[in-house]
Amino acid sequence: MASSKAQYVHYSIPGGEKTFAEWEKGDVSEHANSAFIFGDSKPGKSSDDLADLERSRIVLDTKSGNLRVRSSQGDRWFRPGHRCPDCAGRLELKKKFFACGNPKSPWFYLCSNHEAETACKTVLPANTGGSLASDIADAETRRARKLTREQFDRLWKEAPDILDWAGDPDDLQKVINKAKARAYRYLAHKAEEEGLSEKNIAAMDIPSLRIAFRLCRDADLDDVMTFGDPVTA
Ligand SMILES: [Zn+2]
Repeated sequence: MASSKAQYVHYSIPGGEKTFAEWEKGDVSEHANSAFIFGDSKPGKSSDDLADLERSRIVLDTKSGNLRVRSSQGDRWFRPGHRCPDCAGRLELKKKFFACGNPKSPWFYLCSNHEAETACKTVLPANTGGSLASDIADAETRRARKLTREQFDRLWKEAPDILDWAGDPDDLQKVINKAKARAYRYLAHKAEEEGLSEKNIAAMDIPSLRIAFRLCRDADLDDVMTFGDPVTA
């Protein structure tokens, strides 16, 4: 199978050896795990021969999803992960066997209790390098974001210029992008008025989502349309 990267991938340490020396004073695996899952460690050189990465502190085995940390106490292999927000399990880095998140990423995070009797269905998307592609929100927050997103989508999907579009189909995407940008400006403006610091639905907590949901649900589309031009609006 053609692949741009070899099996073993080096990951950088933010702050380099100085940081690593600090990590060694505590739980070095825990530090490396956090740096990896939150994307502070960046992928670099790769090789099919692990010996080529002898000097790397952090190496990901892209076949198994295991991470190696090389410290003064020796090597430790473990699977990157984070406490599950929905149960006592652990979200763990896995290779994809179904579509989830970024189609280019071969990774996702799956709850270790997915096969338990009271199976936990929590799955979070990952970036191509294996870091988490979202924050670690619980199921209730994720559901509230989805419901709010659906209300928000109405603001551009039902806009007159989209519904009445009769022009060249090739230009439709441009019109859609404009309508989406207009809806984002509308929500950002209204959220500001309500004193919300977070304007991005995908990063909002439940109290903010309640407000954003109401703003989107009650929005007058004529009012949204006035946010059409960022220069003159
Ligand atoms: Zn879980």
